[in-house]
Amino acid sequence: MSNTDFALAVEDLTVSFDGFKAIDAFNLYINTNELRVIIGPNGAGKTTLLDLICGRTKASAGSIKFKNTELTRMAEYQRVRLGIGRKFQTPSIYENLTVFQNLEVSFPKGRTVMGALAFKCDDEVKARVQVVAEDIFLSDRLDLEAGLLSHGQKQWLEIGMLLMQSPELLLLDEPIAGMSARERDLTAELLQRICKGRSVIVIEHDMEFVKRIAHKVTVMHQGKLLAEGPMAQVQADPKVIDVYLGH
Ligand code: ADP
Ligand code: MG
Repeated sequence: MSNTDFALAVEDLTVSFDGFKAIDAFNLYINTNELRVIIGPNGAGKTTLLDLICGRTKASAGSIKFKNTELTRMAEYQRVRLGIGRKFQTPSIYENLTVFQNLEVSFPKGRTVMGALAFKCDDEVKARVQVVAEDIFLSDRLDLEAGLLSHGQKQWLEIGMLLMQSPELLLLDEPIAGMSARERDLTAELLQRICKGRSVIVIEHDMEFVKRIAHKVTVMHQGKLLAEGPMAQVQADPKVIDVYLGH
């Protein structure tokens, strides 16, 4: 497979903060339909990597290609338009709006072919909200104020807000933080489902959860690639046990 066949190809990516390389000549290749999990100790550079891919942080050197389009000099909003959706560690939803309204406002403006035909546009948005609400287990909570959801449901709503934009690459930073066991089970199922037709990168610490969802695992350490492969292989890797799993 050549590097142009991947949905996402990150090569020699480097970012320095005052001389400290938080990401150091890092390579990452992700396919469509793939759910990749990134693990590694605190400070390994996992969140910074997602910041670089979504455009929140500018790369010092290297390349990030998404469907063969170079992203590194593109603004964050341009990357969103290209189909990159990012979920941060703490959910950022509108607590005072209903679940329905949160999803509705996340529908990309100007992407509908209906243009000025506002009423048809409304129907299109409503239909999309229903589909997404079902995806995220909240179809019976549409009229509830989002602030009243459980922490886990808020995490789902934020994923739903991203799904409203039909992203082709989803970046999720610790999506099960604060979730109950039942919510974690449902999230595993949700992630398996939503990686179809797109690529999903998840940063996660819970190894039981990683085992359940990951197609492949990438282990980061000090801004570099430490190991990569199926969970069983990565878990048995002495380097990984030494810097991460052994603690
Ligand atoms: P992880 O998510 O793997 O825990 P981070 O990507 O948050 O790690 O951080 C990687 C390293 O980069 C840490 O040492 C962190 O302090 C540093 N870092 C991250 N962002 C910045 C920044 N904006 N300025 C300076 N240092 C940063
Ligand atoms: Mg982090």
